Amino acid sequence: MTTPLMPAAFIGHGSPMNALERNRYTDSWRAFGAAVPRPRAILVISAHWYINATAVTAMPRPKTIHDFYGFPQQLFEVEYNAPGLPELADEVSDVVKPSWIGADLDSWGIDHGTWSVLVHAFPEADIPVVQLSVNAAKPLDYHVTLGAKLAALRESGVLILGSGNIVHNLHGMNPQLRHDGFDWARRFDDAARACLIDAPDQVTVLCEHRDFHHAVPTPDHFIPMLYLAGLAAAEKAKPSVLVDGYAYGSLSMTSYTLDGEVLPPSSSEDDAGSIPEGPPPDQTNL
Ligand code: ZN
Repeated sequence: MTTPLMPAAFIGHGSPMNALERNRYTDSWRAFGAAVPRPRAILVISAHWYINATAVTAMPRPKTIHDFYGFPQQLFEVEYNAPGLPELADEVSDVVKPSWIGADLDSWGIDHGTWSVLVHAFPEADIPVVQLSVNAAKPLDYHVTLGAKLAALRESGVLILGSGNIVHNLHGMNPQLRHDGFDWARRFDDAARACLIDAPDQVTVLCEHRDFHHAVPTPDHFIPMLYLAGLAAAEKAKPSVLVDGYAYGSLSMTSYTLDGEVLPPSSSEDDAGSIPEGPPPDQTNL
């Protein structure tokens, strides 16, 4: 008997305020968490751990990191007290060989790219969470290849979750366009969808798209999606759209699942997480 593959996902996390709010995006993340078999651990590739190294958290009690500015105090008080799983760091190192991964014992933990999603998807915080950094020094195809190598972990009950935003231009945000996307944002998100569903092994061709530099002015939020593309390519499987939409003109909220059957949530507000009124949006680290 073969073990069924644990589903995987890429989540467009948007504003950290999604951690405190409920809207059709957070409802879809909740529906995803409720639909999957209970994972042994959750391995998250978050846009917000973007460093010049490939590392995996290996501490038994990862701390909750509040890596943003200008948001209400209530958001700084969110704690996601899931345990770590130090032995998963060794398993990740084994499956990605000959790529090398460092074990982080004390610098990182669980950042808001991770917990703003997990407070909805796994609100009990009782499943071990491990983060894999996004190595800023590597080319895009490194991440697709690394994602493909992680496929082996899905056979042993590890849920792999990328968390970023396929279109993420904070400088271009327009607070008046709370539920809308600029034409260039829509064009790029559509192209990413076609590529991810039909040719995930070719996903890096997106960097030649005419809107790439508008949609992806920095690669940190884009790269987590490449891990899902790598997993899809490894399994020869097609990702499905979990939820889609736009926020503030220049963010896409599109999320994908792989091998996860999720019924659309009966939802509430057509909302995308608020942003602070004070500082400029490009200085708040969404
Ligand atoms: Zn973010």
